[in-house]
Amino acid sequence: MRLLLVEDDRRLAEKLVDRLRAAGFAIDHADNGVDGEHLGTEEPYDAVILDLGLPQRSGLEVLRHWRAADNRVPVLILTARDAWHERVDGFQAGADDYLGKPFHSEELIARLNALIRRAGGLAGGPLRAVGLTLDEESMEVEDDAGTRHTLTGTEFRLLRYLMLHPGKVLSKGRLTEHVYDYDSDKDSNVIEVYVNRLRKKLGRERIRTRRGQGYVFGEGEGEG
Ligand code: CA
Repeated sequence: MRLLLVEDDRRLAEKLVDRLRAAGFAIDHADNGVDGEHLGTEEPYDAVILDLGLPQRSGLEVLRHWRAADNRVPVLILTARDAWHERVDGFQAGADDYLGKPFHSEELIARLNALIRRAGGLAGGPLRAVGLTLDEESMEVEDDAGTRHTLTGTEFRLLRYLMLHPGKVLSKGRLTEHVYDYDSDKDSNVIEVYVNRLRKKLGRERIRTRRGQGYVFGEGEGEG
């Protein structure tokens, strides 16, 4: 899952980027509204954390522009703790959730996970797909035989994306865009390496290859 954080408070932003990376997200950061709007328009994020008081362009304006352009990325706005009117304005502009400052990063992570799940049409609770249950806190996966497998950071990000999109053809390019952040060295051949590592841990049949198209997680008409 790849996130965009638009926040001008440098200390808060640095802390959040560290916490969210540790929680298994790829994340990009913009410190003003203009850059934030541009990144959110150009890059395929799974969710955006948007501060409202930003230099150059306010968070509300950024959000209105995205929604006017039919950009439906899930957006969580950061508001002042007691500013109920900011929350109302935010929802009217198209926000999906909010969090009042100051907040605990654990709550932010829980809300982001719920938001991403809802956007994918999935219910809350543990992420289950294709006989696997993902523990998003410990970054472990349990198979249907009850065996737990530990995952590296990249394996976790890739598997979580696959589990949120079972049965769909996912190109290497799309997987790369959702597993790595903007500054990463994005080589889509690396995805192949990680797919093979997951296959070794979880069984070849769970991730099928569609020649020339990409991968299908679980049921699909793959070729092997
Ligand atoms: Ca601010």
